Amino acid sequence: MAFSSSNIRSDFPILNVTTDDHPIVYLDNAATTQKPLPVLQSIQDYYLYSNANVHRGAHFLSDRATSAFESARNTVAAFLHAPENSHVIWTKGTTESINMVAYGLEHLIEVDDEILITSLEHHANLVPWQQLAFRTGARLRVLPLTSTGEWEAEYANYFTDKTKIFASTHISNAIGASTPLANMLNEAKKVGAYTLVDGAQAVAHYEVDVTALDCDFYVFSGHKMYAPTGIGVLYGKSSALETLLPYQTGGEMVRHVAYQATEFNVLPYRLEAGTPHIEGAIGLAAACDYLTKQDRPELLKWEQMLAKTVYDELCLDPRIEIYSPSSNTTLVSLSVPNVHTLDLNSYLDSKGIGVRAGSHCAHPLMEQLGVGSTLRASFACYNTKQEAKRFCEVLLEAIDLLAD
Ligand code: PMP
Repeated sequence: MAFSSSNIRSDFPILNVTTDDHPIVYLDNAATTQKPLPVLQSIQDYYLYSNANVHRGAHFLSDRATSAFESARNTVAAFLHAPENSHVIWTKGTTESINMVAYGLEHLIEVDDEILITSLEHHANLVPWQQLAFRTGARLRVLPLTSTGEWEAEYANYFTDKTKIFASTHISNAIGASTPLANMLNEAKKVGAYTLVDGAQAVAHYEVDVTALDCDFYVFSGHKMYAPTGIGVLYGKSSALETLLPYQTGGEMVRHVAYQATEFNVLPYRLEAGTPHIEGAIGLAAACDYLTKQDRPELLKWEQMLAKTVYDELCLDPRIEIYSPSSNTTLVSLSVPNVHTLDLNSYLDSKGIGVRAGSHCAHPLMEQLGVGSTLRASFACYNTKQEAKRFCEVLLEAIDLLAD
């Protein structure tokens, strides 16, 4: 059955908030999504009925908390089609996951090795690699994808026997383009590079199968897929996770400690120092369950239909420059030459419409596009066609008012 947001909007009470008599229209979902009642309920239930520290206590509540926490790991592993629960490491989010890999692989990187990323990366999948290159004398190289995420055959030449790490986004947060992941991962594998995929913008929309993707690491943040902030995932193949040196050390990640030596714990605990974000993991599992209950191919079609509605309406206006692909995307990123995106943002805000104006943590990509900042409308499961149309209507009103 075709998906319709009208069946699920009541799961998101925040959508009833109004501002100056305008119902809010929340189109900043690529920054963070709203949270449905089952996710909020799972967190409340945890604190009402199960709160205790995990793994260490031998008492009723600690057992309950540990079992809820580890069962959340099972749910996330199944959500990703990971072969084993121990392949799921809890982190604070995408940024921490990538830093864990960049620090964890440092011992394998030598002067003149190459770390390859794409030109569509968020700073989170750029700066940690750049800093790793600075620390080791390796070279950061950038695979030039087109702004619509296309790849040309000769770009395979960027993968050489010096390439030790290849890191790519799954979907660009700034413009919504998908990268040619399968081709790129294939080339990376041919040269024996470690591969990392930044799935921050993918997991809420696509059914991700890490086993089929066959990447070494896949990372994402819970808060962009209806879960709370402060929780994220580093998925890794066990051989790849075993290679990582722990980025943080301390309690929980050890088996035995003496003053002169420490024996680290097994995976996944070896990479999880300190008390974890227990209710975050439980909330993330509830978000996975929430998404799994939806007809995901139909949900994706719905979100793509909303972005397409905006694209088709706005591409007709010669004053507007659109940077997103014309279809198969869930967001639209645009600018209006001679009108500051922040002014457009403020006008939309005055009518209750929340979007994002800025460089989207992607300065090099903005330079490639020749624009300082863009205005981004990004869609989620609860958005409606009326909201997409309202966004276009108010944006055009703003342009009439602000363009000289
Ligand atoms: N990568 C991409 C593609 C993103 O969209 C974001 C968040 N905007 C990040 C990485 C960083 O995520 P977080 O801030 O949750 O760590």
